[in-house]
Amino acid sequence: MRTASARQPAEVTAALREVALGEPLSDHAALALSEARGAALDELLALAAARRDRAWGRTLTYSPKVFLPLTNLCRNRCDYCTFRRSPGQPGEHTMSPGELRIVFEQARAQGCVEALFCLGDTPETSFRAYHALLRSWGHGSTVDYLEWAGALALEHGLLPHTNAGILTPEDMARLKAVNVSLGLMLENVSERLCERGMPHHKAPDKRPAVRLAMTRQAGELSIPFTSGLLLGIGETRRERVETLLAIRALHREGGHIQEVIVQNFRAKPTIPMRDAPEPEDLEVAHAVALARLVLDDEVSVQAPPNLNPAATELLIAAGLNDFGGISPVTPDYINPGHPWPQIARLEAECARAGFGLRPRLPIYPRYLDKPGFLSESLLGPVASVAARLARAECVAGAARQGACDTHG
Ligand code: SF4
Repeated sequence: MRTASARQPAEVTAALREVALGEPLSDHAALALSEARGAALDELLALAAARRDRAWGRTLTYSPKVFLPLTNLCRNRCDYCTFRRSPGQPGEHTMSPGELRIVFEQARAQGCVEALFCLGDTPETSFRAYHALLRSWGHGSTVDYLEWAGALALEHGLLPHTNAGILTPEDMARLKAVNVSLGLMLENVSERLCERGMPHHKAPDKRPAVRLAMTRQAGELSIPFTSGLLLGIGETRRERVETLLAIRALHREGGHIQEVIVQNFRAKPTIPMRDAPEPEDLEVAHAVALARLVLDDEVSVQAPPNLNPAATELLIAAGLNDFGGISPVTPDYINPGHPWPQIARLEAECARAGFGLRPRLPIYPRYLDKPGFLSESLLGPVASVAARLARAECVAGAARQGACDTHG
């Protein structure tokens, strides 16, 4: 590894010993590991990689997805956001029903399995014109429209996963009927980031208490759920660990956190944080390793490859097991300057690190037969998409190895 040597506090050494013995990581040890640097950081990454190997094996995964920015109107104003628009601002856009149909057809033809609906927070509470637009399409709210769009995605053979910001339990229950999973990045539990001059000051929906409450409610509703950390928005290493510990506690209550995204801030010229430093690769690797060691083994740890194009092998060495959604059809609307990698290139990078790469569904296997987690009406669509993915994989495997016993 490429870390400089540094003297480690005794607490870091003791925490590493705790991990090496395979003991459940205490909160105290996890917080101590936030200070791992130099040789201790190397050891931390190696321990996380070993934990990943034991829990997830040597095959890494990604979800072939189509990214659907249903609307980029949002009532919040996060200082790092390039996605949000106000009504009338250049680039403001809400996808129409006709547009959704076209993109679903393209996605299905390109082999996507996931329909990722990602949008701004409850824009109808702030923008009258948007509300009128929804009504002209026969929908009273964003959630009404999402419910309709989810059903349409299912008709097109795609499995919806929605991240619509803050939702009420009633909204989540409705969306559970047409989504195999829902998501909300916790980002960080630090209230400090909401203070004046900090990136969440103008974002009421980024208050940690609000996001923790929704994540807990998703558990109470038995919804397979995606959470995540956002790195590089002014948080400390310790605050990252506190965020991971909060996600772990919520998962231990609800058993519903299927994956945690470790996402790094990337600067863009148009945002208030345009001059803020981006987290270095090793800093992202540190967070990935801590996520692997703090979270229970069954929780998938993911980092987006398009935001870390030069660090794939480093992140694999830090314990990552998943690359998240990669789209052959649509750009990353949140980070438009960072194109998805070609699957063949990513596969080659994984192979160099000694790993395979396979597509997966947007619901992890353990939730398929965990009572109450997948709506009954979705059992058929999930089985059919899983069969399609298996067939495609079989054909791809045959191309790699020159034979396929099942599908010729
Ligand atoms: S990051 Fe999300 S919540 Fe914040 S302004 Fe952008 S779209 Fe809105």
